[in-house]
Amino acid sequence: MTTELSQLRTQIDEVDKTLLSLLVKRMNLVAQVGEVKSQLGLPIYDPDREAAMLASRRQEAENMGIPPDLIEDILRRIMRESYASENNKGFKKLATHLGPVVIVGGSGKMGRLFSRLLTLSGYEVRVLEADDWDNVEHILAGAGMVIVSVPIHLTEKIIRRLPPLPEQCILVDLASIKQRPLSAMLEVHKGPVLGLHPMFGPDIGSFAKQVVVYCDGRYPESYQWFLEQISVWGARLYPITAEKHDRNMSFIQALRHFTTFSYGRYLAKEDIDLQQLLSLSSPIYRLELAMVGRLFAQDAQLYADIIMSSPENIALIRGYYQSFGQVLEILEQQDKSAFIESFNQVSGWFGDEAARFMKESRVLLQQASDNRV
Ligand code: NAD
Repeated sequence: MTTELSQLRTQIDEVDKTLLSLLVKRMNLVAQVGEVKSQLGLPIYDPDREAAMLASRRQEAENMGIPPDLIEDILRRIMRESYASENNKGFKKLATHLGPVVIVGGSGKMGRLFSRLLTLSGYEVRVLEADDWDNVEHILAGAGMVIVSVPIHLTEKIIRRLPPLPEQCILVDLASIKQRPLSAMLEVHKGPVLGLHPMFGPDIGSFAKQVVVYCDGRYPESYQWFLEQISVWGARLYPITAEKHDRNMSFIQALRHFTTFSYGRYLAKEDIDLQQLLSLSSPIYRLELAMVGRLFAQDAQLYADIIMSSPENIALIRGYYQSFGQVLEILEQQDKSAFIESFNQVSGWFGDEAARFMKESRVLLQQASDNRV
């Protein structure tokens, strides 16, 4: 190595070390912001502040001859880290006089996540697990809120198994389907009822930017504090009726999980050499494969429950299967003009979103390439 090269590299190392100490300084400031927000009960994610800050930094970067996308990427990554670390600190308790929160299925994945955040926010959390029913009256005594977080196929049954709850107690469920659990809760409990669906898996680092869908059940004024508490944790709330929720979920979850499952099943059936497939994969295919593979790292029962949760889901999947057959016919007939015509129709249907998706996925693909080991 020439001396010049080694001197330049030493200078780069020095600059990187300066970046590190600046990062420490920034993280310390963010931690102080976290403390202040926690005391005031403000959400850890502030979309307006984030957008304004990124816009300014992009402008400044441009003025300095740095690609704006670069600074945005770096800052977003740093912010993600900050959200995750803020998530381990305390949050302001918004319902100061609430009785204990009982999580039915509280040792499960979602139950543990809610238990952690509620505890960090100062609530007393009790768990009611499968073998605790002999003790149910004692565990539920004085409960201010009961959250049902059990496998979907048991949800309704367990809601109906609950003994009468205190009148003011808020009854909540977290199931990925909403109509049937919500009806069951409204039947068994005359007090406040709320249906929630966290639109994320339990492995998230932080609630920041995650979406929690909610379906009002009864006496919404009694549980507004809980919705606010969830936004303090950083999530965005999305209200919807249980019917609309389930209809949308048929597409977002049932159909998607079905196609992912079928694709993975077919790869396995053909006994493809996965390592070779990965070596030959472009970043987009690798990402798609990762989306398929991650399904099979999760709970089979959960996905069976989600896909088969309603006759509407099965009807939708049958419609999809028929559409597959129609496309196959086009291919077998080598009818390229029919294919192109159909392609253009779909492209027209996606409209402006197609270009937006192209841009959004480009960023994801660049990240996927960076992370490739
Ligand atoms: P999980 O299997 O990890 O947890 C379920 C818990 O329920 C377990 O601890 C189990 O012991 C307990 N349980 C089973 N039978 C019981 C009984 N009779 N009485 C009391 N407890 C009982 O499942 P999970 O992933 O935590 O899912 C829980 C809920 O969260 C489901 O309704 C699911 O739809 C919803 N949800 C899950 C995800 C996810 O990605 N995991 C995402 C959104 C919503």
